[in-house]
Amino acid sequence: MSIKNCKRCGKLFKFQQHNVCQSCLIKDQEDFDKIWEYMRTHPRVSVLELSRNTGVKPEVINRFLREGRLAVQSNDGEPATSIGDY
Ligand SMILES: [Zn+2]
Repeated sequence: MSIKNCKRCGKLFKFQQHNVCQSCLIKDQEDFDKIWEYMRTHPRVSVLELSRNTGVKPEVINRFLREGRLAVQSNDGEPATSIGDY
């Protein structure tokens, strides 16, 4: 069992499977649900647009991208997001 810094609030926690602590896991899920909901009707949006329309911070969206929960697709050279097979 290792100790890590939570990627969301910076607190130390016992790392299990997630990069965030227990309380942030819930917030992460809420944010992810908002993103998912928005992307069902807007399949290709930029991170900024997604952030503006869902209220989820861009750094959270970028972390989801890094973790592979969201996938980036290039559409006419414009970076866009899509839900990955998570
Ligand atoms: Zn946390």
